[in-house]
Amino acid sequence: MERPRILVVGGGFAGVECARRLERKLVPGEADIAIVAPFSYELYLPLLPQVAAGVLTPQSVAVSLRRMLHRTRIIPGGAIGVDPKAKVCIVRKITDEVVAEHYDYLVLAPGSITRSFDIPGLTDHARGMKTLAEAAFVRDHVISQLDLADAATDRDERISRLQFVVVGGGYAGTETAACLQRVTTSAVKRYPRLNPNLIKWHLIDIAPKLMPELGDKLGATALDVLRKRGIEVSLGVSVAEVGEESVTFTDGRVIPSRTLIWTAGVAASPLIATLDAETVRGRVATTAEMRVPQFDGVFALGDAAAVPDLAKGDGSVCPPTAQHAQRQGKVAADNVVASLRSQPLKEYFHKDLGLVVDLGGADAVSKPMGVELTGVAAQGVARGYHLMALRTNVAKVRVMTNWLLNATAGDDFVRTGFQRGKPATLKDFEYTDSYLSKDEIRAHTAALTAKQ
Ligand SMILES: Cc1cc2nc3c(=O)[nH]c(=O)nc-3n(C[C@H](O)[C@H](O)[C@H](O)COP(=O)(O)OP(=O)(O)OC[C@H]3O[C@@H](n4cnc5c(N)ncnc54)[C@H](O)[C@@H]3O)c2cc1C
Repeated sequence: MERPRILVVGGGFAGVECARRLERKLVPGEADIAIVAPFSYELYLPLLPQVAAGVLTPQSVAVSLRRMLHRTRIIPGGAIGVDPKAKVCIVRKITDEVVAEHYDYLVLAPGSITRSFDIPGLTDHARGMKTLAEAAFVRDHVISQLDLADAATDRDERISRLQFVVVGGGYAGTETAACLQRVTTSAVKRYPRLNPNLIKWHLIDIAPKLMPELGDKLGATALDVLRKRGIEVSLGVSVAEVGEESVTFTDGRVIPSRTLIWTAGVAASPLIATLDAETVRGRVATTAEMRVPQFDGVFALGDAAAVPDLAKGDGSVCPPTAQHAQRQGKVAADNVVASLRSQPLKEYFHKDLGLVVDLGGADAVSKPMGVELTGVAAQGVARGYHLMALRTNVAKVRVMTNWLLNATAGDDFVRTGFQRGKPATLKDFEYTDSYLSKDEIRAHTAALTAKQ
């Protein structure tokens, strides 16, 4: 008899944790496990702003899948459609070859993409902070602005190159603005001809508060830290238009700037729309056991899924955080194993552990288990949490060594030049047009199944 096939889609926090647990729980030969992953690493996203800031090398936050997974078949590519009736997932490999992967159990964990809005110029000019390449490109772009401003003979050009705008006052945007502002502030010593007073960072959000999860007191402390460092924080404001050399805010201000970093929220992976499933604001609706109720053998979790938040109650769903994704991965794996063995499934229940926000250097705020911390104590908790959450010892050592090196030797502000010839804006990283329509999925399923 053929062994049951378990297919995990997505090699991020949720998918990897699920596959690791499946390897641990299933006895060899009980089922085949495969994972569809575009990259051969799990990206530790919470440290991405530190990659953009050059505190960490890109490799240190790219945790090797092959160090974590030992008997899972890793399929290099992306899922572009699912036919839950035929129990087939259509995969485009990194060679562009399209194949059909048949499954008995499907675990959907493709995460999210940057949520953009219909703002003129946004996708053409804004940069994201969601992938390793985007973080590396942002770093190169910021350093190139310093280099070009330093060489510019025109004062207007110099001004526009030295103003930077970050949109989104959640942890991703706040950490990005704080860490990158630290880069430009410390870089000026290598640019003696630049007037440091011309360098300006703006952090804007349409909401009335930064990171409301922090609570009023800690949120106000974070705001104070940023403002004291010279970051201009504007709340209740968004972007009306983006051009090559200026950003127009909704309050009418026009900022001469060639840098807009967009972190204003995420949307579930477009893969979800290829299923005919119920959704909650784009995320696929699941039961508390993470089953997609319409389809047999399909589970969903992480940023792509709306999993009921039983710890919070009141019908809310879990927020899109790594903390939830990692823990959901374990429970989803247990439930796949339970389904396979005809045992009862368990519900996902996790009480939020709090938030850590690294504002660069010794500046940080954190709220572990409701305890409010600032400064060095908060930074210690933040770094300790990240080290604990990184899944391999090699990655932990790499991150620690990078922190130590940066704290002692600082930054060389080197521009690699990899971004030349590639604009690296939002539209270059979304890949939203890779997915299939329902008719295309049916056609591919029929054709590929007949061929394979
Ligand atoms: C800058 C930044 C900072 C953050 N900081 C924090 C923090 O401090 N604390 C916290 O809890 N959360 C933080 N988050 C949120 C957190 O990273 C996400 O909630 C978490 O990564 C979600 O896990 P996931 O497994 O659902 O998705 P991901 O970790 O994004 O993994 C999804 C994976 O699926 C892959 N994929 C995408 N499409 C497909 C496809 N079609 N087929 C196959 N694979 C696919 C992706 O390449 C990726 O590897 C941060 C996010 C960002 C962007």
